[in-house]
Amino acid sequence: METMTEALSLTLPDGSVRTVPAGTTPLEVAAAIGPRLAKDAVGAELDGGKVDLRQPLTRGGAFRIFTVKSPEAGELIRHSAEHVLADAVKRLWPEAEIDAGRKDHSEKFQYDFRFPRAFTPEDLARIEETMREILAEGSEFERLEVSREEAERTFRDMGETLKVERLKEIPAGETITLYRDGRFTDLCRGPHVRSLSQIGAVKLLEASGVYWKGDEANERLQRIYGTAFASRQEMDEYLERLEQARARDHRRLGQELDLFSFNPLAPAMPFLHPKGAAIYIGLIDYVRELYARYGYGEVITPQILDVELWKTSGHYDNYVENMFFTEADERQMSVKPMNCPSHCLIFGTRLRSYRDLPIRYADFGRLHRYERSGVTAGMFRVRSFSQDDAHIFCTEEQIESEVLAVVKLILEVYSQRIFGFKSFRVELSTRPEKRIGSDEMWDHAEEALKVALSKSLPKYVLNTGDGAFYGPKIDFHVEDALGRFWQLGTIQLDYQMPQRFGLKYVGADGSEHQPVMIHRAMLGSIERFMAILIEQTAGAFPLWLAPVQATVLPVSEKFVAYGETVRARLAAAGVRTELDARNEKLGYRIREAQLQKVPYMLVVGAREEQDGTVSVRRRAGEDLGAMALDAFLARVRDLAAARSREL
Ligand SMILES: [Zn+2]
Ligand SMILES: [Zn+2]
Repeated sequence: METMTEALSLTLPDGSVRTVPAGTTPLEVAAAIGPRLAKDAVGAELDGGKVDLRQPLTRGGAFRIFTVKSPEAGELIRHSAEHVLADAVKRLWPEAEIDAGRKDHSEKFQYDFRFPRAFTPEDLARIEETMREILAEGSEFERLEVSREEAERTFRDMGETLKVERLKEIPAGETITLYRDGRFTDLCRGPHVRSLSQIGAVKLLEASGVYWKGDEANERLQRIYGTAFASRQEMDEYLERLEQARARDHRRLGQELDLFSFNPLAPAMPFLHPKGAAIYIGLIDYVRELYARYGYGEVITPQILDVELWKTSGHYDNYVENMFFTEADERQMSVKPMNCPSHCLIFGTRLRSYRDLPIRYADFGRLHRYERSGVTAGMFRVRSFSQDDAHIFCTEEQIESEVLAVVKLILEVYSQRIFGFKSFRVELSTRPEKRIGSDEMWDHAEEALKVALSKSLPKYVLNTGDGAFYGPKIDFHVEDALGRFWQLGTIQLDYQMPQRFGLKYVGADGSEHQPVMIHRAMLGSIERFMAILIEQTAGAFPLWLAPVQATVLPVSEKFVAYGETVRARLAAAGVRTELDARNEKLGYRIREAQLQKVPYMLVVGAREEQDGTVSVRRRAGEDLGAMALDAFLARVRDLAAARSREL
């Protein structure tokens, strides 16, 4: 029987077009271009999406083959390493059951197993060794399209009952594929590298217990994390970065510096200790100072509100699984996960005129969001937190100038001078497919954001279709000392909430109009920002945020009284000062203060007492010599007031 095969046009990176029959695999395309490329190929890309080298092409488009030298290779290398990890565990413990791996955008990969006990470091070493043996075998990946029944039979016969469950998650009608490398077969969508020989280096990092599918009601599985690279050198560089990150881990530093703790009695809700609270308050003081200059009015709103409010705002329909509930007077109430609805209520308390707008409400209110236990991580993601949150109510015409003002505010906060962030990047996300509001409204809103950005940050990245369903948004991502990017600030236009709350103002034309609402934050969650800042500074906070700004160290017991005079004098002037008069050697106390990252150590002895001076040392160890107490006080005051990062 003769079948008509459709021809596909593939546009290669050099602009040339190659025509191939439908069903040709990327690997075959690579081979036709050159045997060298076929050998080096790690993956393929069609119209920006990754395609497995063995997946028959069904459509044409912009096409490219990439090799281990491309940045995209890492993702395929690490995903392929998941298969190698699962294979290795099965070779060592045939009774272990495999669940699934997970790809993310980090340099780590992971795989979950049903295993009767926790994996030990010795286990990980053995598994890693077996993985290297498997890599040395250099098998190529093979792609098999199978029916659902066949896949189920295959895994049932193998005793992989978790896989049979995973199979059920694949929607009906979707192609089911198995990938085989050597003697190992897994249920997978791909894509994978061509050959295991392309995985140049692997390392297992850690193991931990996890609930199946992240649900506490399910059984506990054992997860193994690892990393893989094309070369040993790339892996060593990554491990070095990881080591630096570990040294800066905010959970470790949070404990060592006595900043915060967690307690199982309030899961994923941080307790800020006095020193942690000092940083929190310092950040809020800073933002309050900006609010005074940028025309925000701070409001304080209830913690617990009737669910009717959340029905009006739409949170009850879209966010209910993240909300905490309680009851009062036989009414169902919810603990607020966001401030926006309360601000709508305040706006609605009187008739507003266009002359009143814009109105800017800022709120540091504590928010509670139920995050599943699997996704909480130190202070990066918690259930109880507050934000430097604000909502601007304005007219359509004011959107551009308001956004411009917020951008200016954010640029001030992100300037390297304040927190030392290396750089930041800006993304504009436009109308998604699922949205509310007219095209005209979207045109206007997107245009306003584009104009504001072109006037302030013309090098933004455009994320077409990534906006919220109620409006377009601008996101800010800052780069920390380790080169990691964190999304912090956001500016979101919202036409929906003012409508849901029936908000109105009387325009210049004398008729009623609906205001536009702008949600915005600079630091985002203060708790999360603190975690980022702890890792950014390795705990050595700028002077204005340091929980203890100076420690007074009498050289011996004889000078404790003078030390106390110095401490009291500084404390009275608003400098957060401690006296360390413990009966320990001076060198030991200096080291302790350095470990606590206290900006200044003030050593006092006979000479200092006689001259009314202090001998000043910076936390990094430099000796600034003797300074009159007043001169030191002036120095600290000036640097802190300027929010300088200098000491
Ligand atoms: Zn796979
Ligand atoms: Zn909001």
